[in-house]
Amino acid sequence: MVIGGGEVATRKVMMLLKADAAVELISPELGHELADMLAAGKISYTQALFSPEQLDGAMLVIAATDDEATNLAVSIAAKARNIPVNVVDAPELCTFTSPSIVDRSPILIAISSGGASPVLARMIRAKIEALIPATYGRLSALAADFRYRVKQRFSTSQSRRIFWENIFQSNIAELVLSGQEPAARTALSELIDSDQAETSHGEVYLVGGGPGDPDLLTFRALRLMQQSDVCVYDKLVSKEVMELVRRDAELIYVGKARDQHTLPQDEINELLVRLAKEGKRVLRLKGGDPFIFGRGGEEIETLMENGVPFQVVPGITAANGVSSYAGIPLTHRDYAQSCIFTTGHLKDGTVELDWPALVRPKQTVVIYMGLVGLAEICRQLIAHGLPPTMPAAVIQQGTTQKQRVVTANLATLADKVADAEMKPPCLTIVGEVVQLREKLAWFEPKG
Ligand code: SAH
Repeated sequence: MVIGGGEVATRKVMMLLKADAAVELISPELGHELADMLAAGKISYTQALFSPEQLDGAMLVIAATDDEATNLAVSIAAKARNIPVNVVDAPELCTFTSPSIVDRSPILIAISSGGASPVLARMIRAKIEALIPATYGRLSALAADFRYRVKQRFSTSQSRRIFWENIFQSNIAELVLSGQEPAARTALSELIDSDQAETSHGEVYLVGGGPGDPDLLTFRALRLMQQSDVCVYDKLVSKEVMELVRRDAELIYVGKARDQHTLPQDEINELLVRLAKEGKRVLRLKGGDPFIFGRGGEEIETLMENGVPFQVVPGITAANGVSSYAGIPLTHRDYAQSCIFTTGHLKDGTVELDWPALVRPKQTVVIYMGLVGLAEICRQLIAHGLPPTMPAAVIQQGTTQKQRVVTANLATLADKVADAEMKPPCLTIVGEVVQLREKLAWFEPKG
């Protein structure tokens, strides 16, 4: 039931007719478009002012008059009768709001700000409109037609899901999207009958999850994260990044804290092989970049040996992301022409590093896993020739809302970091470039 006969009412009526509703209109007068609809028998009409009993028997009410008192009366009367009511442009009088819609029937996407900002909702809608080809509806209709056959062909929901995911990314989908539907139907039909359809698609995606901020993921990382069946992940992967893994993927934690290995590396390698051989798409998700202090090389070596297909997706490594968010450029024409990444991990309590290589002039040194050995590292750098006044910084949980930065020099850094009670993960940066932070710090974590 629509109360009102003007332009807004017309739009609402058209929307309701599109959804196959039986529309009854109440208004003292009718705009000419509505009059046409009435003449064509598309709506029924009562020429009257609003009164509450008109709502009896209605399933849904929309008030679209320009009279506030009438709109309020409609809202009150509808609520009293437990009929869902929408009053145009008055969210406080509504029991439901109608979202912006992207229509790819049978796929329908609704965007709502709950009345808070229709403009923002419409802008989001425009983005989604641009993102999703108009022909996606046809793709979905095709899937609907073949659903039963696919269900008969594949007994488990997992095998069906994999089948459809492959189809939607295949040349068959391209055929539909380019308007060659008969060819697509033939190809799909043949594929269902062929034995190729059943080959196992076990694969490992070795994905770099970046240093923490989920915006730093690559497009490929995100796509693979959303199509994996199981996710094997580390301690370092941030909560926000984990949120983007497919909701119903199985999660297996193999995180390592220093000196307390949850799963030894060779068991992780074997786990990946086993899961892939079960036909699963395995997301091996790591912090930062898998090939930088990430043991990614060892993991794919085992995959290779076992003939398991894999792909590697680079991520933003801590040195990269964390230095950016701390406002410390790793190179700079005045201060550093080279940059070296090293690990400060202690083996048997001693740090064995190539000290002469680390104290070269005009070089920035980035130390991963260097928190425990920090005092010793600073001592050694000074002993091998760096001045005690050399600027240095430690950054905890860089790129995240919990980022903390301590700047000092080699002589004072370890004490300052201890006083600040910094906890892993922490990255250490040593070099003249650290002083640039004073001018260039830009990222303000909420804490
Ligand atoms: N593959 C990862 C590094 C793994 S080693 C990468 O490419 O970044 C783990 C070390 O990375 C930590 O001890 C710490 O030194 C560093 N690290 C990773 N993420 C970090 C972050 N958000 N902030 C500070 N340091 C980080």
